[in-house]
Amino acid sequence: MNNPAAESVASFRARARAWLPDNMPRLDPAAPPSSRPGSDGEVWLRARELQQKLYAGGFAGICFPREYGGLGLSRTHQDAFTEEAAGYEMPVLLNIPTFSICCATLLDVGSEEQKRRHIGAAIRGEEVLAQFLSEPSGGSDLAGLLTRAEQDGDTWVINGAKTWSTWAYAADYGLCLARTDSGKPKHRGLTMFLVPTRAPGLTINRVRLVDGSTEFCEEFFDGVRVDASAVVGEVDGGWAVATRQLFHERSAVGGGSPYVSGRGATPSRPKADPIALAQATGRAAEPEIRTLLGEMLALTTVSRQMGSRISAAIAGGQLPSHAASMLRLLHAERAQTEDDLALRIAGATAGIGPGPEPGRTGMVGISYLGRQAASLGGGSTEMSRNLISERMLGMPRELAPDRDVPFNQVKQRHR
Ligand SMILES: Cc1cc2nc3c(=O)[nH]c(=O)nc-3n(C[C@H](O)[C@H](O)[C@H](O)COP(=O)(O)OP(=O)(O)OC[C@H]3O[C@@H](n4cnc5c(N)ncnc54)[C@H](O)[C@@H]3O)c2cc1C
Repeated sequence: MNNPAAESVASFRARARAWLPDNMPRLDPAAPPSSRPGSDGEVWLRARELQQKLYAGGFAGICFPREYGGLGLSRTHQDAFTEEAAGYEMPVLLNIPTFSICCATLLDVGSEEQKRRHIGAAIRGEEVLAQFLSEPSGGSDLAGLLTRAEQDGDTWVINGAKTWSTWAYAADYGLCLARTDSGKPKHRGLTMFLVPTRAPGLTINRVRLVDGSTEFCEEFFDGVRVDASAVVGEVDGGWAVATRQLFHERSAVGGGSPYVSGRGATPSRPKADPIALAQATGRAAEPEIRTLLGEMLALTTVSRQMGSRISAAIAGGQLPSHAASMLRLLHAERAQTEDDLALRIAGATAGIGPGPEPGRTGMVGISYLGRQAASLGGGSTEMSRNLISERMLGMPRELAPDRDVPFNQVKQRHR
């Protein structure tokens, strides 16, 4: 908490409880936002409007410092607000990546001007941010990326391609990692840029996934010019920025970020709820289903409690930031357990029953098609296991013959 004169959590909670009914739309459990029709443009407009309401009411950016437009309050204040807001529609689309990844990274390593301008604008509901990290040549070996930025006087010229960028079509800016010195080893010649998504030369295409969702985009950078103030952190010091960004991403995906406000599925990716499903299909009394539901609930409980413990230990310095990989791993295990169980309950009706409301079997098949997202988003499950074994358990590091070799001397498959 960076506001020593902060009000108590109890008083903050009471104010939130009094404010919410008159200001935020109530959630209708029978028709959650994820099941409502509406174009992507309308959905994003709605998210921005909801964020503007939170800001006007004094409940936006709860854990961001006051000097950058937030409230400077603690995680406990945020948790209290999220609990109170459970029955209301919240701008959850802005949680990941805008607040919990991009703004959190800018807060750690951005310039004073970047923090004041972009964190403040996001909190006021005026700006959406995206991440331009992964490339068509692969996302796990992030430091091996091929997009390059060359200096031309006071500007940088970016050329290359990015992919799997969540919500980039709706974003105003993207954090883009590019190679600025290929004569240095791969981790040491990278720079992070904050790129306006409407910059000339930047083409953003939507990618339609097998489950029908279109949250992902691919970007082509053809001579995109940004000025020196777009550099986040140091020139050639982009790996330090990316490391921080990946930490925030793992924390956010794993449920450990203090910058997430409100809970709920994002509109484009509804999740099947196995408990609602078991009740709706009349299978809740079957012993086998009850056992599996019990196991799922135990995993959910353990995962939540581990989440709080690990987040607190990282914040307090008892665990290194790599411990966020444990949150990320638990998230994938839990999400995939839920998807697998939902499919088992729905059985043969998974693809054909009614939907898409929660508890209906029709959405289960669709939801299952997105099962692998949990073990890839925020870095893959395998990469999380690598980090845990190497950085936390002290096991031998993976062989990396290119680690100290100038990047332009490393043999590239995709160059
Ligand atoms: C929901 C979701 C949201 C995403 N959002 C964004 C975003 O906003 N911006 C963005 O830039 N990217 C985003 N991504 C992309 C994501 O970061 C990548 O999918 C991820 O890093 C893996 O990269 P890849 O898909 O290229 O797989 P690859 O890197 O090609 O890996 C393929 C497989 O090989 C395994 N593998 C690779 N290297 C190793 C290794 N050294 N040891 C063990 N196993 C290995 C991987 O675990 C994986 O199973 C998102 C992905 C998803 C699913």
